[in-house]
Amino acid sequence: MNFKTTLILFIVLFVALSLFSLLVQFPVWVFYVLIALFFLLLTVGSFSMSRNFFLKSFTELKSNPRNTVALTFDDGPHPLYTPQVLALLKQYNATATFFCIGKNAEKYPALVQQIIADGHFIGNHSFSHKPHIGFNGTKCWINELKKTDTVLETILGEKPTLFRPPYGVTTPHLAKAIEFTNHTVVGWNIRTYDTSPIRHKDAMLKYIKMHTEPGSVILLHDTHQRIPYVLEHTLIYLQEHGYKTVSINNLMDE
Ligand SMILES: [Zn+2]
Repeated sequence: MNFKTTLILFIVLFVALSLFSLLVQFPVWVFYVLIALFFLLLTVGSFSMSRNFFLKSFTELKSNPRNTVALTFDDGPHPLYTPQVLALLKQYNATATFFCIGKNAEKYPALVQQIIADGHFIGNHSFSHKPHIGFNGTKCWINELKKTDTVLETILGEKPTLFRPPYGVTTPHLAKAIEFTNHTVVGWNIRTYDTSPIRHKDAMLKYIKMHTEPGSVILLHDTHQRIPYVLEHTLIYLQEHGYKTVSINNLMDE
C-alpha cells in the first residue's frame, strides 16, 4: 500500500464515518483514532524504503539467481577511513558503491577520483546531510540533489544517476524532487548501525553473516574507526561463501 492508496482509503473511511455518524451517534474518539492511524502509517512509510510508500526505490534484488551482493558506503569521502576502505576492497578484489555527501566530495575531490579510479561507483547522498533534512520542502531537496550532482560532475565529468536519501527517510516532497531530478533511489536491506557507538563490531558482523543472501544490499559507512575491522571480516565471509560483490547498477541489471 503506497501513499496514494492510503490517502484514498482514509478519505473514503473518513467520509463514510462522517455520513454514518448522522444516522448513529458514536464517540468522537473514533475520528481521532482514525487520524492517529493515518499519521502512524505515514511515519512508518517514511522510514521504510522497501515499502515504496512515497517513492519507488531499489533496496535488494529478490530471488537473485546469482551469488552477487552490493556493498555500499555512505557519508564519505572521509580523509582517514575512505583510503583504508579502498585498500581493503582492492586487497579482496571487491567492488562497492559509495554514496557521497556533496560537501565532503567538494572537500576531498582526490578521494572521489580515487574511488572511481579503483573501479567503484558513486552516488549522490545529498549535499548537507543535515539532521533535519527529512523536513525539507521540494525546492530544498532539489537544491541538495543538484548541488551534489554539480560537485561530482565537476570532479568526475559526469553526474551520478543514483541517490540514497540520508537516514533512509522519504517524504512526498522528496518524491516530487526526484520526479524532477530523475535519480534512481537506492536503499538497503542490511543495515548494521555501524556508526552507533554502542553497537559492538562483532555484533555488526554477526548481523551481516546472518542476513546476507544473494541480492542483498549492505549498508556501511566509510567514516569511523571500526569500519576496517567490520569490512575486512565481511569481505572474508563473502569470499568464503562464494559471494561476488557488484555495483548497485549491476545488481539492478541481474
Ligand atoms: Zn548518510
